[in-house]
Amino acid sequence: METLARVQSKHLLPVLPYSHAALEPHIDARTMMLHHDKHHASYVENLNAALAEYPDLRERTAFWLLLHSSEIPKEARTAVRNNAGGHINHSMFWRVMSPSGGDQPTGALADAIMRDFGNLENFKARFDEAGSKAFGSGWVWLVRTHQPGGKLEVLTTSGHDNPLMQGHFPLLVNDVWEHAYYLKHENRRADYLKGWWAVVNWPEVARRFKSTELYPEPRWENEGGLVLEA
Ligand code: MN
Repeated sequence: METLARVQSKHLLPVLPYSHAALEPHIDARTMMLHHDKHHASYVENLNAALAEYPDLRERTAFWLLLHSSEIPKEARTAVRNNAGGHINHSMFWRVMSPSGGDQPTGALADAIMRDFGNLENFKARFDEAGSKAFGSGWVWLVRTHQPGGKLEVLTTSGHDNPLMQGHFPLLVNDVWEHAYYLKHENRRADYLKGWWAVVNWPEVARRFKSTELYPEPRWENEGGLVLEA
C-alpha cells in the first residue's frame, strides 16, 4: 500500500540478549546498563537525527552508510560515520558475549586460530596486547582478512571505525573505550581485557567465521552486525 511505502525507516536499539547482570562479575550490571541503555542508545538516536534531513539516506542500512562515506553530504558525514559505526560495533559486541561464554573455540575456527597464531593462548595474548596499546577510544578485533586464504589477524580501530572499512571481516570484538570498563576496573584496561575471555561467545564467533565462507566477498558488507529498521 502506498501509505506503507511512505513509512520512514529508523534505526533501532537492539534488545540486549541477556540481562544487565548476566555477565557479572566480569562486566558489572551498572556498566552494562549505562553502556547499552545510554551509550549505544545515544548512537542510534544521533544516527537517526543526523539522517533526519536526508530521506534517501534514511532508507540505507547502517553498514551502507558506514561504507559509503563519500555519498554522505559533507555536513552530516562525521556524525553518520561515528554513530553508524557506534551502532554496528555495539550490536556485534553484545552478541559476541554470553553468560555461558568462555571455554574455547572448536572446529574450523579453532583450526584457523591454530594455523595463524600457533595456539589459542598466543592469539589471546596478541589480542590483549593490541587492546592494551590502543591509544584513546577504540576497538580491538579478530578479523578474517580480505586477501587470498583469508588469514586471521588482530587489529585495532579508533573511534567507532569498523574493519569492513578496510575490507576485513570482523569475527570477534572487544570495546576498549573507557566507558566499557572504567566503573569496575578504573584505569586498569589490561585487567578488563584479561577477565573478558570468560564471557566470549565462541559459538557466535564460529558462526561468523563460517558465514565468511558462505558468501562471496562483495556480500561481506551485509554480514557482521545487526541492522534494525522500522
Ligand atoms: Mn562502547
